[in-house]
Amino acid sequence: MTEFRAIRIDKNNDGQHAEYVVMHQRDLMDGDVDVDVAFSAINYKDGLAVTGNGPVVRRFPMIPGVDFAGRVSRSAHPEFARGDIVVATGCGLGEAHYGGFAQKARLSGDWLAKLPPPLTPARAMAVGTAGLTAMFCALALERHGARPQDGLAVVTGAAGGVGSFAVALLAKAGWRVAAVTGRASEGDYLKRLGAAEIIAREELAAPGKPLQTQRFAVGIDTVGGVTLANLLAQTRFDGAIAACGNVGGMELPANLAPFILRGVSLLGVESVRPRIALRRAAWARIAEDLDPAVIDAMSETIPFDEALARARSIVNGKIRGRVVIDMGLNLQAQNAG
Ligand code: NDP
Repeated sequence: MTEFRAIRIDKNNDGQHAEYVVMHQRDLMDGDVDVDVAFSAINYKDGLAVTGNGPVVRRFPMIPGVDFAGRVSRSAHPEFARGDIVVATGCGLGEAHYGGFAQKARLSGDWLAKLPPPLTPARAMAVGTAGLTAMFCALALERHGARPQDGLAVVTGAAGGVGSFAVALLAKAGWRVAAVTGRASEGDYLKRLGAAEIIAREELAAPGKPLQTQRFAVGIDTVGGVTLANLLAQTRFDGAIAACGNVGGMELPANLAPFILRGVSLLGVESVRPRIALRRAAWARIAEDLDPAVIDAMSETIPFDEALARARSIVNGKIRGRVVIDMGLNLQAQNAG
């Protein structure tokens, strides 16, 4: 396949626009591994990229798509061989380097992880950056030394992409999980993912005292702002909160008291930069811990032809769960290892 289909974003004097194009393999950017892309997924960042609503794209033209999974077709990298099933997330894909909304990708093997069986490329994309970020948070809490017997784990923005995976991963690891959501209607969905109790978002939304009743042993926070300040104030002695998101604000109007009077830790989590050892460990744990039925319940699959329209609609909040793009390579069930 020397020619392939892609979504490309170009910029001219009228601004930027995205469209389907046919490209040639020689048009690809540099890299020591070529991948036949089997599945990609639509992230909020991709929506910002194709609509131009946010400064995501750092060079033009650009193929968007921050995540993809597929099969290696050429490798000059010592760790990969033709036929390997691989996954890529972040690392500037779809921002500074051509990403996953194309049937072919060329990139540095240092950005790739072999997909651990039994995770299929389609399910890896259902997990994507959202699930990987949740796993990074869970691993950060483990590195802190937290154990399920320590008490209650809290997840904010629980019905969102990162939050849903955080609930499922913590419950699977044995934690009793409290899911914080603004949508009471998602209570049953969150309980199916493993939440033991539901907390209304408003309970944590108003500014509170620096030290409040100790409720949580650990937490994964996707919200930030006052919510994160309240989580810290309600965390037990020696507990920890892994913070990865800012849907409720970039500010942290918090007090030092939880840190210096209760030994509470705030663990920052970032999933975009290529720290490959951590990524590979996280994918291995995802393959081990996430029930395929749980992954399937959170995702829908669409053909590549619908990807551009769906990517545009994500910025209007019109997408629920994870949207996986089938690039038409017929790798649906494959990954025997
Ligand atoms: P989603 O949009 O899927 O989910 C966010 C959830 O947060 C919503 O579903 C909602 O959950 C809740 N929410 C929305 N607005 C507010 C608000 N104003 N106050 C409180 N809660 C709110 O996003 P993702 O899960 O994909 O991402 C979550 C965050 O994590 C984002 O800030 C994103 O940028 C960040 N992120 C960070 C990464 C990193 O590397 N650090 C990587 C990936 C994502 P509910 O309805 O249950 O209340």
